Amino acid sequence: MYKGTNASAGIGIGKAAIVEEAELIIEQKAVVSVEAEVERFRKALEKTVSETERLAKELAENVGEKEAEIMQGHMMLLMDPMLTGEIESSVKNSSVCAEYAIEQVCNMYADVFAGMDSEMMQQRATDMRDIKTRMQRVLLGIETVDIASLPQGTILVAKDLTPSMTAGINPKNIVGIVTELGGKTSHSAILARAMEIPAVVAVTGFLKDVKDGDEVIVDGSTGNVYVNPDAATAAEYAGRRDQYLKEKEELQQYIGKPSVTKDGVHLEVVANIGKPEDVEKVLEYDGEGVGLFRTEFLFMDRSAMPTEDEQYEAYKTVAERLAGKPVIIRTLDIGGDKEIPYMGLTKDENPFLGYRAIRLCLDRKDDIYRPQLRALLRASAYGNIRIMIPMVTCIDEIREAKALIEETKAELDRKGIPYNKDIQVGIMVETAAASLMADVFAKEVDFFSIGTNDLTQYTMSCDRSNERISYLYSTFNPAVLRSIQRIISCANEAGIMVGMCGEAASDPMMIPLLIAFGLNEFSMSASAILQSRRIICNSSREELQAVAEKAMSFATTKEVEDYMREFVKSQA
Ligand code: PEP
Ligand code: MG
Repeated sequence: MYKGTNASAGIGIGKAAIVEEAELIIEQKAVVSVEAEVERFRKALEKTVSETERLAKELAENVGEKEAEIMQGHMMLLMDPMLTGEIESSVKNSSVCAEYAIEQVCNMYADVFAGMDSEMMQQRATDMRDIKTRMQRVLLGIETVDIASLPQGTILVAKDLTPSMTAGINPKNIVGIVTELGGKTSHSAILARAMEIPAVVAVTGFLKDVKDGDEVIVDGSTGNVYVNPDAATAAEYAGRRDQYLKEKEELQQYIGKPSVTKDGVHLEVVANIGKPEDVEKVLEYDGEGVGLFRTEFLFMDRSAMPTEDEQYEAYKTVAERLAGKPVIIRTLDIGGDKEIPYMGLTKDENPFLGYRAIRLCLDRKDDIYRPQLRALLRASAYGNIRIMIPMVTCIDEIREAKALIEETKAELDRKGIPYNKDIQVGIMVETAAASLMADVFAKEVDFFSIGTNDLTQYTMSCDRSNERISYLYSTFNPAVLRSIQRIISCANEAGIMVGMCGEAASDPMMIPLLIAFGLNEFSMSASAILQSRRIICNSSREELQAVAEKAMSFATTKEVEDYMREFVKSQA
């Protein structure tokens, strides 16, 4: 058995497909027969060309002619006699293996292209590196898995999944995910939860022990993973999977029920989404709105920025489908672990402390922020849209963003375009600075939403995706709890709505504390809504005061967690 971090609940049983995107290690190996090596290269080239042809065809059919053009460009490079001739000469002249000759020749061309001013030539450099690795993969016998076309019953196994790779997953076919890296709040884990795919992350050394086609069990609730289990284990987990699905079924009775505590406090249980299509799950699980629309997902997995109109359509679709229920849309939060290649961002030394979210948007008003704000305001005519600003650290950012919203409103007025004149503007409270300034910021905005994923990271000075220090990364750390309690009470005092859209909002051990602190809105993966509503309906805010008081009296994370675990058990 392997142990990792439980990242998305449920049990998945299926066959492993290894997605290897790690950098290849190319060594300079001498060859005995240069003729045989040239022949080996020619065969690999032929295979790469035919794979590229297939990819181009598939892309043209499934995505569009434009995307297929990239692959046609790759074909031209692969069939360029100068390039292939040089690779062959390199093998012959230096008696080196084909992988190494390819590495040398392609890198040389790529560097030349990269040094040119024209953007088109720089793109050529990327293409050159791409065909280089594809040829080398063929030579080394490493298949590149096309995630979108993996068969039903697949357990996806990877070193790490980038957000855009995860976005390409077909949830009908992938029954589980195992990665060597990542943490509970890495974006791939968040997406796995959104797609309700059982996932275990941070399983150290897993890739060296598992092969394509191995039978794998993923227990996303405990973090256990089995490879080729014995019959007894397989039967036990098949039973557990059925039990899990049955419990899920029982939660259905909370559909249509209001989220009201036993002592009559009305709360809201809403959903986090990344794409307009996620709204269907929100409706299926009876979410009372959307507490966080991560708009960066509209910008990922594509080759150019979505236009204002494309964004407008996406926001409008969500607002209309939710028919008047609140839809909190967060303006672009990229940077950090969320990279978008076509935006031309340089890599920060410390991405989480760098050029990210509102910092980036205020620096790129014309091409990024204004079009997004216009799209949001235009869409606000069709539902209950609220605008949320991410990663705020100082009041100037709030004021500048609000001024820009006002300017955009005036522009729409001049053009006679309708929008909601009373649109609410709020902020994510997810930095230590925002928490400390919560009393001041509360007077400046219409609502707060606590982003515990980042608040924990920035309070504990602990990278949210670094496994080695994950023992520090806990929302139950007394420092983080104090911060949360303070933010909520500042919002309560100012009379503004305060929600939470970080992962802690759906943690059964955290919900009782949040109710006691006075949180108004809980935003989470749609699949966690009913379970959270059940907890709320069975709780009394009054009675929870003593529990919160006790929890806040501890000095260590462990004491808080142990105490809350026991409390949750006692309620079962
Ligand atoms: C958070 O930081 O808690 C949050 C909800 O935002 P994200 O996970 O997208 O950074
Ligand atoms: Mg955040």
